[in-house]
Amino acid sequence: MSTRARQYDAEVLRRTSVSDHLVRLVLGGAGLEGFVSTCMLDEWVGLVVPGQYQSRYYTVRSWEGGELTIDVVIHDVGLVTEWATRDCVGDTVTISEPKGSFAMPPGSGWLILVGDLTAMPAMARITGSVNVPTRVWAEVADDLGDYLPPGTAVEWLYTPDDGSSRLAALVEEIDWPEGDGYFWMAGESAQMRAIRKHLMRERQLPSSAYDVMGYWRANTRRQLRAVDPGPVWRAGKAAGRTDDEIWAAYDAAREGHP
Ligand SMILES: Cc1cc2nc3c(=O)[nH]c(=O)nc-3n(C[C@H](O)[C@H](O)[C@H](O)COP(=O)(O)OP(=O)(O)OC[C@H]3O[C@@H](n4cnc5c(N)ncnc54)[C@H](O)[C@@H]3O)c2cc1C
Repeated sequence: MSTRARQYDAEVLRRTSVSDHLVRLVLGGAGLEGFVSTCMLDEWVGLVVPGQYQSRYYTVRSWEGGELTIDVVIHDVGLVTEWATRDCVGDTVTISEPKGSFAMPPGSGWLILVGDLTAMPAMARITGSVNVPTRVWAEVADDLGDYLPPGTAVEWLYTPDDGSSRLAALVEEIDWPEGDGYFWMAGESAQMRAIRKHLMRERQLPSSAYDVMGYWRANTRRQLRAVDPGPVWRAGKAAGRTDDEIWAAYDAAREGHP
């Protein structure tokens, strides 16, 4: 039996702008048949956009009536960023089976959520679903006043102009509620490593009391080879094309990609 995670082809049905840096994509179509939610509140899928082979991860904002909604942050540069900036309605993308890690222990008396713009889809889904007193700290550059469910206790921290994050420093200052609860946080990976150390060493929390996820890495270089030659080569061979024709197709696929 194959252990490879199942993949689904989905069509982009709708694309709307949520805020300056956030685009909502609704995926659907027959290719999503058999897609099953994990029901974990921060569940995510791997997304491969047309002409690419690398995945980027996106939170399942919702999965309802055969439609899967993701909210994509538009960065200065980026593989999915460039694709999602354009009108991508009608494109076919590949998504992987969902996975999740939010696991609030039963009986938790409170929940704290901390994250940047990439964590907003998960924080919105979580706050819309849990029934314990919840406090949110969100570090975003956009005005997202009505993105979280009404009545959510949220403190907005606007991202500094230089794009740096203050989340690690913020968590060290948090006034923690009494009793047992759950702490969830996601954002830039180096900040998340610092927080894990703080939670383990200073706060001495058991690992079951928190989930801290690195969602993206600062300063990683863009992949120079933005289009995978493998599928182009295999498709060309299967179609009986010559090597020259195959590499011409590869060059054409790379047009527009550095
Ligand atoms: C489990 C999980 C769930 C996620 N859920 C979401 C989600 O719902 N929505 C969402 O938009 N993202 C989400 N992310 C983060 C997203 O996968 C990354 O930000 C991804 O790198 C974006 O891909 P890209 O192709 O646009 O940019 P890339 O090609 O990966 O990166 C290009 C450049 O942009 C920089 N960059 C990447 N992310 C950021 C950022 N957040 N802020 C500033 N610079 C950045 C990189 O350092 C790099 O220099 C999630 C990540 C994980 C692991």
